[in-house]
Amino acid sequence: MTTTPPDAEARRAITPVICYPTETLPKPDLPLYLHALRSASVVESVTVAPRDAATFRVPAGAFFRIVSVEGPQVGDLNVWNAADLSERFYSGKTRALHGTHVSTGDRLWSSFPALRPMATIVEDSLDWYGIDAFGGSVHDVIGTRCDPYTGNLLSGSQYHHCCHSNLTRALADATGLPLPEAEAQVHDVLNVFMCTGFTRDTGQYFMKASPVRPGDRITFFAEIDLLGALSACPGGDCSSEHSSDAAPCHPLRIDVLVPASGSLDGWHPPSPNGYDRSHGR
Ligand SMILES: [Zn+2]
Repeated sequence: MTTTPPDAEARRAITPVICYPTETLPKPDLPLYLHALRSASVVESVTVAPRDAATFRVPAGAFFRIVSVEGPQVGDLNVWNAADLSERFYSGKTRALHGTHVSTGDRLWSSFPALRPMATIVEDSLDWYGIDAFGGSVHDVIGTRCDPYTGNLLSGSQYHHCCHSNLTRALADATGLPLPEAEAQVHDVLNVFMCTGFTRDTGQYFMKASPVRPGDRITFFAEIDLLGALSACPGGDCSSEHSSDAAPCHPLRIDVLVPASGSLDGWHPPSPNGYDRSHGR
């Protein structure tokens, strides 16, 4: 619709710069975490039923692991500060810092004003996948969570087992909050095991069958006391559709692991962000 300017190619040819170089981010001590993980034992296992969600609690300095069982399945993860639900996972800032998909060494950052690492990924059995020919990769922080409002907008449906509703029910059950208050705490997710990207021609969000297989797992170190909720997405492996009961779905398992005492010597939970919050006034 607009006339292309004569210097269009020159403008397009400008080299991009990384918005947030991560060299100055506080680095996780992965060798220490892996040392602690080797000593850790499972203290609790929670099974998430297909098209439903479950919650779990992880003390700071412990681990949680999401495991594929029975068949390929995608999970939608929410994480809160167990002592203050207003501090919760901030997928947009995590994306800005680490990129569209996360893996070993990346961290789940919390909302303002705390903006600190809530969890650190210490192992990921799908880290071999990389970025495929379509631009797809695994464990994204670019999607939202499937929800009944978008389904209603697009097709007039009333579907009650989208991840948004599953997470809402699970959080209400875990906290005793009324459903509307629990719903207000549900936030954009880490799409665990989901394979997604943006199409190169139209820039649209796409998904494709997840490469996850039973036995695959992703393990997180809890930097602060966490309340987590995981939904086994009604999209199953997300190869075709979600927001319906059409896709084959499988459970997911969450293991909470506590390391041997003394195995984290020298580690301290991260402090909330140091900005003074005066905002120029
Ligand atoms: Zn979903």
